[in-house]
Amino acid sequence: MFKKILIANRGEIALRIIRACRELGVETIAVYSEADEQSLHVQLADGAICIGPASSPESYLRAERIIAAAEIADVDAIHPGYGFLSEDPAFAEQCEECRIKFIGPRSESIRRMGDKATARETVRAVGVPTVPGSKGAVADPQEASHIAEQIGFPVIVKAVAGGGGRGMRLAHNPMSFQKEFAAASAEAEKAFGNGAVYIEKFIEEPRHIEFQILADEEGRVLHLGERDCSIQRRHQKVIEESPSPFMTPELREEMGRAAVKAAEACQYRNAGTVEFLVDRHRNFYFIEMNTRIQVEHPVTEEVTGIDLIKEQFRIASGEPLGLTQEEVQIKGHAIECRVCAENPSMNFAPSPGEISLYFPPGGHGIRVDSHVYGGYTVPKFYDSMIAKVISVGCDREAAIARMNRSLREYLIRGVFTNIPFARSIINDPEFVRGRFTTRFVEEFLQRTPKSLFEPPTHL
Ligand code: ADP
Repeated sequence: MFKKILIANRGEIALRIIRACRELGVETIAVYSEADEQSLHVQLADGAICIGPASSPESYLRAERIIAAAEIADVDAIHPGYGFLSEDPAFAEQCEECRIKFIGPRSESIRRMGDKATARETVRAVGVPTVPGSKGAVADPQEASHIAEQIGFPVIVKAVAGGGGRGMRLAHNPMSFQKEFAAASAEAEKAFGNGAVYIEKFIEEPRHIEFQILADEEGRVLHLGERDCSIQRRHQKVIEESPSPFMTPELREEMGRAAVKAAEACQYRNAGTVEFLVDRHRNFYFIEMNTRIQVEHPVTEEVTGIDLIKEQFRIASGEPLGLTQEEVQIKGHAIECRVCAENPSMNFAPSPGEISLYFPPGGHGIRVDSHVYGGYTVPKFYDSMIAKVISVGCDREAAIARMNRSLREYLIRGVFTNIPFARSIINDPEFVRGRFTTRFVEEFLQRTPKSLFEPPTHL
């Protein structure tokens, strides 16, 4: 096992990694921007190095500063967390060149799966079903139009470098196609510095179901079951759960096998996620692979009893997987709500500022992964997620009841949060029935009086 590692991230995931390291007896070095000096990850790590000003392009995205910090601190490995540099193949490559172990897959796998058009082709070649669409990226608008007609409308135009729901546009008909094609490409260029886009058939009312996989350095791959992430707003996940209420044992086996095949196709190592869309007839289609730990990993941990971050360290240090596919058991049900400092009555605008009062929920079956505390100032520079509440119960009904009561207990003053919004979803009869698709939030917002999830006007 490693002796000392550096965490190239901030927020709750930095804390999550520090906690796993403490239990493994691994020393931790945090990096931080000037805006994060008071952050818990800085206080809890064994050492901390400032890597620049608040804005992430000047700090958390500066590969050379992070590598320099790693060399000064003389660490064996770097854990990238999620976001920031976690899916940057050049960063993984630099780590490899400096003989610092990157806790994740090899740079070639990140590069291959990071280009979503290449990822599609890679898994299609080994027989994993993909959404019907263009073969690779399409640059010429006329050719794109022709391909869209062949696929049949509606189609979705997606950025090959996409992530976080950006650079994605729906076109219902040939008339609107050119406009959406140009818009997706422009948005992708702005967000990722790469305007390349591809085209997929738009699957009507699908569920988003993803599989957690683990692969050791010998190339043995396991899956740890699925997460249902259909509760999304603007293609971004809000609530996730495991197992999926839509899943059957047969479908799990079939999709799990496909996920393992997808990972094998890119010689995957370490923890990763294979994402699928599933239509109402239970046909499933690969959409992308995330080559890192994900925000929603705790729901898998809660139902499998496997600590995914520790597994990442064990795998990276060369240990073989300690269990077989048959030994992976899914027990009970877990739900995660992402808590964000944002105002649902102001179209979910971020709400940074000082948290004046903070009381997190607790009790049996509740886990809160968060980096905030009373007196902490949520900086305006980063993602607005400030906590994840994870409830676990013997079944879905128990997990829902627990989530409901914990969101009621959760007290955060000083900033607006989406807690009332998450609670009204958790209490929604359609959600409780488990009959939802990726359109759930959109429909929910249309049919639900705003007053039900508006935060209090006074903080
Ligand atoms: P990103 O990398 O930006 O997260 P994904 O490819 O993972 O993009 O897609 C995010 C979400 O967008 C999906 O969970 C789904 O809700 C929607 N989506 C993506 N592709 C399609 C499609 N072909 N048909 C219908 N919905 C889609």
